[in-house]
Amino acid sequence: MASHIVGYPRMGPKRELKFALESFWDGKSSAEDLQKVAADLRASIWKQMADAGIKYIPSNTFSYYDQVLDATATLGAVPPRYGWTGGEIGFDTYFSMARGNATVPAMEMTKWFDTNYHFIVPELGPDVNFTYASHKAVEEYKEAKALGVDTIPVLVGPVTYLLLSKPAKGVEKSFSLLSLLPKVLAVYKEVIADLKAAGASWIQFDEPTLVLDLESHKLQAFTDAYAELAPALSGLNVLIETYFADVPAEAYKTLTSLNGVTAYGFDLVRGTKTVDLIKGGFPSGKYLFAGVVDGRNIWANDLAASLATLQGLEGVVGKDKLVVSTSSSLLHTAVDLVNETKLDDEIKSWLAFAAQKIVEVNALAKALSGNKDEAFFSANASAQASRKSSPRVTNEAVQKAAAALKGSDHRRATNVSARLDAQQKKLNLPILPTTTIGSFPQTVELRRVRREFKANKISEEEYVKSIKEEIRKVVELQEELDIDVLVHGEPERNDMVEYFGEQLSGFAFTVNGWVQSYGSRCVKPPIIYGDVSRPKPMTVFWSSLAQSFTKRPMKGMLTGPVTILNWSFVRNDQPRSETTYQIALAIKDEVEDLEKAGITVIQIDEAALREGLPLRKSEQADYLDWAVHSFRITNVGVQDTTQIHTHMCYSNFNDIIHSIINMDADVITIENSRSDEKLLSVFREGVKYGAGIGPGVYDIHSPRIPPTEEIADRINKMLAVLEKNILWVNPDCGLKTRKYTEVKPALTNMVAAAKLIRNEL
Ligand code: GLN
Ligand code: ZN
Repeated sequence: MASHIVGYPRMGPKRELKFALESFWDGKSSAEDLQKVAADLRASIWKQMADAGIKYIPSNTFSYYDQVLDATATLGAVPPRYGWTGGEIGFDTYFSMARGNATVPAMEMTKWFDTNYHFIVPELGPDVNFTYASHKAVEEYKEAKALGVDTIPVLVGPVTYLLLSKPAKGVEKSFSLLSLLPKVLAVYKEVIADLKAAGASWIQFDEPTLVLDLESHKLQAFTDAYAELAPALSGLNVLIETYFADVPAEAYKTLTSLNGVTAYGFDLVRGTKTVDLIKGGFPSGKYLFAGVVDGRNIWANDLAASLATLQGLEGVVGKDKLVVSTSSSLLHTAVDLVNETKLDDEIKSWLAFAAQKIVEVNALAKALSGNKDEAFFSANASAQASRKSSPRVTNEAVQKAAAALKGSDHRRATNVSARLDAQQKKLNLPILPTTTIGSFPQTVELRRVRREFKANKISEEEYVKSIKEEIRKVVELQEELDIDVLVHGEPERNDMVEYFGEQLSGFAFTVNGWVQSYGSRCVKPPIIYGDVSRPKPMTVFWSSLAQSFTKRPMKGMLTGPVTILNWSFVRNDQPRSETTYQIALAIKDEVEDLEKAGITVIQIDEAALREGLPLRKSEQADYLDWAVHSFRITNVGVQDTTQIHTHMCYSNFNDIIHSIINMDADVITIENSRSDEKLLSVFREGVKYGAGIGPGVYDIHSPRIPPTEEIADRINKMLAVLEKNILWVNPDCGLKTRKYTEVKPALTNMVAAAKLIRNEL
């Protein structure tokens, strides 16, 4: 019985690639240094899989930045603005596309399906001249072979590549990206020939778009593409890999009828319905790569359950055609549990990171072939049992309270217009009130103070004193700038999720559990392992302190339950909705404590609300329903006079505007850096019922200081669409990545612009 891994994290167990990349970008090390780090990482990953006994080991899943950008390089589809003139694509062109350079901005980046990984979006038009311009796939294949490992090279599938592309600037609206298929396939044929010549006997095409709701002409593109490639592929075993969800029945039919394909990979963790499809009919003589080990999470596999699933499939596809695999690339999980020195043994026994998942895959394959490692299985069974029964996981009271929420509605009793009237009497704000989104610059000094406090190098007293000073400064600055609704600046927070997770029960934290987000950027999601509760107030101390420094309203600043959920590794032993309801109750307690402490404006950030949206339309309504319900639960208990803000930092709202309105916040601030009037009209429709809205008036992602006239112009454009009595004036997002030398003049101009227009109204 064989085993396979869809893909593996590239960063290294201690983010070695990140540091090598950043040092290269900073000009502190050479291209050779970077290549050496990368080659060592690849070698150790291949060796690790070979030692574990994995039969189908992937290559070309490494990337210096992103696998979709690698495909763009392979195809020579470099946008003309990067000035590439042909030949093999080197670091210069490659990193310019990824990150921009002194004169040209980067290509667009967007989320990879429903993960927190971001890929570089190909920009294509009718004139793209596709040429085989990066030989990375074959080079990595040869590199592994030289190390004695025969790998299965992985390519982003041609149809997925095109479906994830966008038309280049200036290309006609009617242009169909799929019309480029023949040209793209011509290059794929060259790559395939190269791989064959190098000795490859298998090839893997990642075609995850097959799990989406695809129109029939898109499905047809798969049929056409693989029919066209079939002659080139003959003599090779061809695996089409899908992941992240069920494959819809229609797509399953298309997929399993593809020409020249010998194996199909499915995510059987998220795709439980796919199991039924397979049982309903699987092409004879073909391989099934059964993804039973979760690539999206950090939990140890329930080996007994997986074995049962696999045994159920054996009869359908045949013993020699069943391959044990991961549900997706392991890119989306942490790298190696071995480096977790701070987790206790019990929690550790419940977890498996990428390195441990490889071993699980192999153990399952061995068990299927009658070589069950009894000791390994029984250790796993007792870990599963301990997780089920551990008192650290279950909190009866929380379970009951959360269960009681389901099926009921929670909404503030008064409607938003009446609430805003009541709030205005108390707050007495000018028209076009100014505010910021929460964080102020996080200086080197601030980071040092937090780090030293965490490491017990400075006393709590010293720590509180420093943070207090910082808050006082931030408050003074805002008064000086004459901002209307103030923030405390979040100097005590390292991260908007981790800060809360650390104070809630049911959360655990890793030291090295990094997951690539984009390029060299990684995130370290907390692990939610148990029922969530709030032992004591989390922000009241700092918020009251900040309020004591000013007579102006000070916003309480919280992260919402859906964002905490979506930016954590979540439990797989209960629905996500249940976990979110529990977090909502904890945040509700905090909101009410802030109100009791005299905080009259409370912002509850839901930056990641959209991120958790299921890939398939049929599942989206349910998600939005409980997500929005959870948000409302957090503030259903406050008085009319308490103003609830929420903030979201993406601009793709069009399809979920009704859900956003349904959150029933008093004021919604959003990112609007592209000053998108279409977005505003969407909002106008939505906010007809009267909530306040603050579309960001300048982009905080750039160091550029927006002139007063420019901001005034933006506000005027907004006023053309939105009524003046609901408009707020604020930046796009938090200011924590900016410098004071940027923030001061930018906010000065923002306030000046607001005043200018107030006078004209
Ligand atoms: N309040 C947070 C901040 O200002 C919001 C961050 C976000 O939306 N990502 O930093
Ligand atoms: Zn934001």
